[in-house]
Amino acid sequence: MDFDPPESVRPTLAAIHQFLDEHVLPVEQQVMEQGFAESDAVLRELRAKVKAAGLWGPQIPRELGGLGLGLVEHGLVSEQLGRSPLGHYVFGAQAPDAGNLEVLHKYGTHEQHQQYLEPLARGELRSCFAMTEPENPGSNPTMLSCQARREGDEYVINGHKWFTSSADGAAFAVVMAVTAPESSAHTRASMIIVPTDTPGYQLVRNIKIMGDAGSGWASHAELRFHDVRVPVTNRLGPEGAGFVIAQERLGPGRIHHCMRWIGVCERVFDTLCRHVTRRKITDDKTLSTRQIVQAWVAEARAEIDAARLMVLQAAWTIDKKGFAAAREQVSLIKFYVADVMMRVIDRAIQLHGALGVTSDTVLGFYYVHERGARIYDGPDEVHKMVVAKRILARYQGEA
Ligand SMILES: Cc1cc2nc3c(=O)[nH]c(=O)nc-3n(C[C@H](O)[C@H](O)[C@H](O)COP(=O)(O)OP(=O)(O)OC[C@H]3O[C@@H](n4cnc5c(N)ncnc54)[C@H](O)[C@@H]3O)c2cc1C
Repeated sequence: MDFDPPESVRPTLAAIHQFLDEHVLPVEQQVMEQGFAESDAVLRELRAKVKAAGLWGPQIPRELGGLGLGLVEHGLVSEQLGRSPLGHYVFGAQAPDAGNLEVLHKYGTHEQHQQYLEPLARGELRSCFAMTEPENPGSNPTMLSCQARREGDEYVINGHKWFTSSADGAAFAVVMAVTAPESSAHTRASMIIVPTDTPGYQLVRNIKIMGDAGSGWASHAELRFHDVRVPVTNRLGPEGAGFVIAQERLGPGRIHHCMRWIGVCERVFDTLCRHVTRRKITDDKTLSTRQIVQAWVAEARAEIDAARLMVLQAAWTIDKKGFAAAREQVSLIKFYVADVMMRVIDRAIQLHGALGVTSDTVLGFYYVHERGARIYDGPDEVHKMVVAKRILARYQGEA
């Protein structure tokens, strides 16, 4: 067993680490304060530099201009990118575009590839994914209300969505809508591409996350669809395949998120350790001399290392044996890593005192905007239930 990163990806990891230090971290504070949409020029410049350095799109297939990395390699890259809230965006690896790109690549028609996939891969346009509805439980998406009624060669879409991340400024939405109301729970819905300039498509608002509505890519919108008409050829994959595609989208997506969260942990851990070794609490002693602080440092290190190994093992299993073999591992990392991340952030805030709750460090941003990690892509409780049921089923057959 080799715990070193694969030889092939080491130069890329080193180059990304250096790029973040030299170009991204210095402008991070400015972008967070101005907002994403307002910082478009700075972000475009950074993306151009990433492309010039040959580092664009780590997870994007080579034929589309990316690096075409496998899941383990991309996981390691994602960890590096997670060291800054701008990392994934600047390198063209950001959700929800990464997930949309994957499903467009697999299920899109030639025309859909030309119109949506290729410009998405080049970073020329952005997209969003609209599944969750305020009136229905996102944890049970078979209860969707949004309808796409077939009229000749068109779908007519009516519905209400929310928490559509990055809808602000997106060129198209991938919308999950019921196309066959009478069919079984998992074959009722389809995924349909809706250009955001289609009449009847309405972005109601960017929802405030604990007071911050965000903008551009860093936002979550409420949407309404009023008799939105799109050609049937805008459907992604076969009719009724919405849930199958959604599951495929979420599998690798959870690995990407978890490794990004490890990157968040590492950034927060560095911030914590730097602070406690500098902050004096008496004339000659810093915070780092206190046992409770030392215990938190050791605990955080152990938890981050454990979480990291779990994610890499899950990614390795998917790469080698396919997603079905990794189902339990993926549920385990989804709730475990999110929990570790929130605890590490919380302890770092505590040790920064009042400074910890300001926006003068990256901690406040992470605290507000990463809390959703325990809710999206399956809330903690659902993943725990899934894992426990599978484990216990193995004991139930015993004599
Ligand atoms: C930051 C963020 C970004 C998001 N981005 C997107 C996006 O881009 N596109 C999109 O479509 N959606 C997005 N979502 C929505 C997300 O997918 C849903 O919030 C999630 O599926 C949970 O659905 P819900 O909010 O309706 O909660 P509910 O389904 O109402 O559940 C509420 C709570 O009940 C508990 N619970 C639920 N089911 C069970 C159970 N079986 N057993 C025990 N407890 C249970 C859990 O604690 C859960 O958090 C995003 C959410 C967040 C927070």
